[in-house]
Order: sequence, then structure tokens, then C-alpha cells
Amino acid sequence: LSGESGRSSDKKARVLDSTAIILGFTEPLSGRMITSRKVLEEAKYGEAEYRALASREGHMIEVMDPDRKYVEEVKKFAAKMGELELSEADLSILALALQLLKEKYEVSIITSDYSIQNLASLLGIEVEPILHRGINKTIIWVAYCSMCGWSGDKKPGEPCPVCGHPLKRRPKKKT
Ligand SMILES: [Zn+2]
Repeated sequence: LSGESGRSSDKKARVLDSTAIILGFTEPLSGRMITSRKVLEEAKYGEAEYRALASREGHMIEVMDPDRKYVEEVKKFAAKMGELELSEADLSILALALQLLKEKYEVSIITSDYSIQNLASLLGIEVEPILHRGINKTIIWVAYCSMCGWSGDKKPGEPCPVCGHPLKRRPKKKT
């Protein structure tokens, strides 16, 4: 359906969260693939770090930081909606997407995070959920704390044993 809406097809952008980076989201896509420095920081372990670096080296995934005003806008909106468990990386993804939307991009977020999905749809940003692509079969999940960085064998939603913040989950590795 390209050209249907009159929007230029080269103004298409996908914003990738840390799960997308960790899993090596490299299927051929049109448009720009963008992530933030915060996401790369959050994905800083083993294979993930390598993938992130390789992607950057290959210019497949651009690294962009959102303008502060969009970060503030997203922060305020998240608080208003009661989404209080978002990490700096999560906020940066939403802020980037919002910024690209304002710059007239046809933008979507690639994520597996429910809070990001929820806020994105409330902000009118399209979401492409990773877990609906069938690749979750190969993921080993690990619970982690987005506040203090603890990770280990607990269930998402349980309080962090160190700081008490509700735990989130991320893929440990691809099998
Ligand atoms: Zn913690």
C-alpha cells in the first residue's frame, strides 16, 4: 500500500528497544533503524554488546539521542498514566519515537515491553511487538531491576531484593 497516504516512504523509521538490540533485529526493513545511547547502555552484556557494536559498525542501526523536551514530555505523560516502572532507556525510546513523529516520520517502536507498548499506543505511536514474531521460543528470560541494575532468578513484577522496585524482564541469551 505504499504511496497510499501520500507520505514519503523514505520518511519511515523504526525505533528499537534493548530486546530488539539483544536479539539482533536485522530482518531486512525499509527506512531507518534507530536506537538510543541509553538502550545500548542497558544492553551492555556479552553477545548483546557485540551485536550492538557490530550493528553500529555496519551502519545498520543509527544511534540517536532524543531532544530533552521530548524526554520531559514522555516522563510527564508516563507519570500521568501511572506508568512508573520505565527505565531511562524505555523513556528514551518513547521520546525518540515521539520526536520522529513530530518530524513527520512514519514511526514505529520495536519492543517486547508492555509498558512501552501501552504508552506508545496512548501517544499514537505504532508498535511492532517482538514477541508476536515467534522468536520468543529461543529466549531465556532473566528478571532485572531498572533502578539499581540487580538481575537474577526472580519473577517480573516481584520486588527487587536490593531496592524493592518492581522487577522487569529481559532476554538473557539467544539459544
Ligand atoms: Zn533494585
